[in-house]
Amino acid sequence: MTPKQTKFTCKECSKEFLVIPQEMAIYAEKKLPLPDQCPSCRHKRRMALRNERALYKRSCGKCGDSMLTTYAPDAPYAIYCQKCFWENVG
Ligand SMILES: [Zn+2]
Ligand SMILES: [Zn+2]
Repeated sequence: MTPKQTKFTCKECSKEFLVIPQEMAIYAEKKLPLPDQCPSCRHKRRMALRNERALYKRSCGKCGDSMLTTYAPDAPYAIYCQKCFWENVG
C-alpha cells in the first residue's frame, strides 16, 4: 500500500517535493503552516538561522583575545580561544 503524498513546489528552488501523510497530519495537528520549501532548502535555512543566532563575541578567559563562539555571553564557565584551549587540554 502506497500512502498518498502531497506534492508541493519549493518557493526557494522551485523543485517539487513530497510530504508524506504522517507529516501532513502533524502540520494539521499542531496547526503549523504548510511547508513552502523543500527539505534541503529548509535545512539550509535552519542552519543559517542557527549560525546567526549562535555566534557571540566573547573574550578568551585566559589571554583576553576576542573571538566568536557558540557559547552565550552568560554561560557560567570560562571559554578559551583555540590556542589557550589546546594549551589547557594538553
Ligand atoms: Zn528547495
Ligand atoms: Zn586565549
